[in-house]
This record gives sequence, C-alpha cells and structure tokens, in this order.
Amino acid sequence: MATAATRDGVLLNIKQLSMEFSTTHGLLGRRQRSILAVDRVDLQVRRGASIGLVGESGCGKTTLGRCILRAYKPTGGELLYKRADDSMVDLAGLELGELKPFRPDIRMIFQDPYSSLNPRMTVLQIVGEPLRVNNLAKRSEIEDRVAEMLRTVGLRPEYLRRYPHAFSGGERQRIGIARALITHPRLVVADEAVSALDVSVRGQILNLLMDLQQEMGLTYVFVSHDLSVVEHLCDYVAVMYVGRIVEQAATADLFSRPRHPYTEALLSAVPVPDPSVREQKQRIVLGGDVPDPAHAPSGCVFHPRCRYVRDRCDTEEPDLLDLGDGRGSRCHYARELVLHGIVADGGRADGRLRSDTGPGAAT
Ligand code: SF4
Repeated sequence: MATAATRDGVLLNIKQLSMEFSTTHGLLGRRQRSILAVDRVDLQVRRGASIGLVGESGCGKTTLGRCILRAYKPTGGELLYKRADDSMVDLAGLELGELKPFRPDIRMIFQDPYSSLNPRMTVLQIVGEPLRVNNLAKRSEIEDRVAEMLRTVGLRPEYLRRYPHAFSGGERQRIGIARALITHPRLVVADEAVSALDVSVRGQILNLLMDLQQEMGLTYVFVSHDLSVVEHLCDYVAVMYVGRIVEQAATADLFSRPRHPYTEALLSAVPVPDPSVREQKQRIVLGGDVPDPAHAPSGCVFHPRCRYVRDRCDTEEPDLLDLGDGRGSRCHYARELVLHGIVADGGRADGRLRSDTGPGAAT
C-alpha cells in the first residue's frame, strides 16, 4: 500500500472522460451502433497512491485503463497528466506521434503471463525491448540494466538468455513486471495482473508489487474484478458500472461501509477467511448481467438489478453525491441506506500477504 508521505499531489486528473465505440451491423453493415464504454468519468490519481478500478466484466474498467495508457484515444474529456517538471499535459488531446515521450513514463502490466511474452524472444530481449525502442540505453548497457531489473523483481540474472517456456506462471509475471518497470515509469496500469496466476503465487506477486511501489515511488491504477486483490494493494477504489463510476472511496471506508447497492453486492461475494464471519455473511446474488452500454437502462443504470429500487430510480439519473472525505456515490439514497460491508482481513500480517491466505485462497 502507498505511504502517506508519497501522496503529495495529483499525478493524473481524469475529467469527464468518455470513450465511445462505433460498430456497424445489419445487412451490408449499413446500420451503425454506438457504445459508450466509458461515460463522463471524473477521477483523480494521486502520486504514489494505488487506485483500484473494479466491477464485473463489461463495466468499462479495462477500457478506462486503456484510455489512461492511450491505447485508445478518448472521444471526450481530458487526461491531465503532470510531467516530471510539474507542467501539465492533456494526454487525451495528443496524437499518436506526440505520445512517444510519455510511453516510458506510463506503462502496463498485462493479465496473462503466458500469452503476453513472445515465446521466440529471450528474457534479455523481452525486458530490454522498451529500452531499445525508446532509445533509453546504449546497446552495451542494456544487458546490465536488464540483469539489474531481474534482481529487483526477484529473478536470477543468469536467466537472461532463457525463453519464456522455461519459467513458471509466477516467474513469467515477474518478467512482465520487469518489462513494465525497466523504463522507470511513474504511472503503471496493471490489468488483472494476478488473476491468471495460481492462488499460491498471487500473494507473492502482490507483495512484490507493493515492495516495488515503495522502492520506485510508483503510482498504480489496478484494474481488477477481484475486490480482495484490490483491498490488499489499493488505498482508493472506484467502482464502475455501465461505463460510469458509481462509487469511489478510500479502500477501508468502502469495504467497511459501502454507500452504493452495487458495491454492497460485490463485497458480499468477497471471500472471507474467518469461518465464523463467513457463516454470518449474506451473499447478494445479482440477477442478469451488466447491461449493454448501447441499451443502458433509463434513470439509475443499476435499477433493474437493485434490491433497494424505488419509484424515482427508473426515471431520474442520480448525480455523483459528494459524501465528504473523498467519497462519492451515484445513488439517490446513498445517505439513508444502511448497507453492509465486510471487515477485510484476507490474512494480512504487517501489510503483507501470506500466499496461502491471500486473495482467492478462501471461498
Ligand atoms: Fe438502487 Fe435507486 Fe440507488 Fe439506483 S438510485 S442504486 S436503483 S436505490
């Protein structure tokens, strides 16, 4: 988790960000359909902090992460990024060629350690490639820089000339992390970075990410469907639904007292290691799936699945209510509903995870 000392300002200010995709369908592809995958998102990412983007599949969290990386060019809004010299730039407005200076600064850790590494490249080539592509090191320096980075992520530098197939899933993810961090970025977007790993190594990788954040002063945007992962890594959480942020809060506040019914339902599915707590916990099963953004429900987008729905919910769209202390909820009744959270534990000891009791270990 980030230290308070490093939270000294906003690194990325996301303002009214939207991402709309157009697809064609029908006979001869004549009919056009617009899908608003990210809808007017406002979010501040503080320097040195970890922010979690959570929600079910199809809620827009991955698209938002890709907009931050500028893998997608947002169709609306701003991505105000603070450069190392403290000047601001709107990444959303830059063209592809203008983004090059920012590529080493904003990096991504991919989900799948198996498909994200080129099987025909050695570890030296994989991890050294961002240095080469961005002209950040002379050819003669690359091997030393990669060896040093491997040590940093807990791999032996003797592995430099091995290929990905020689490594386990956890080791491959360490290689992916080394590739992301070799350029010494300031902002790292991690997309489901541990969800493809065995439960036994998830805790190790999360501990590594936390250690690296401290050592390298990293800021994380952590995209995950798994709230127990976010609980351990992030100090602030934004819950997304149909492309919108429906709740945002400091992690401890959100877990102990959610202020949006969707968050309450997600939390009810979080595994709790303590059997006595687990027995008392009521699982809220949401009917149906996240709606297609092309046919978003009227009023509150969550109303067809909400157990607290009232008359005005299907006609009036809730604004993001400011609940103080950086909390916000897009529910008309956020101030009056008494929703249930969980006392998060997950087997932490001094902020670190035991691999046998970490995320995903208890169900
Ligand atoms: Fe549920 Fe209504 Fe709140 Fe939407 S506004 S989350 S439907 S209570």
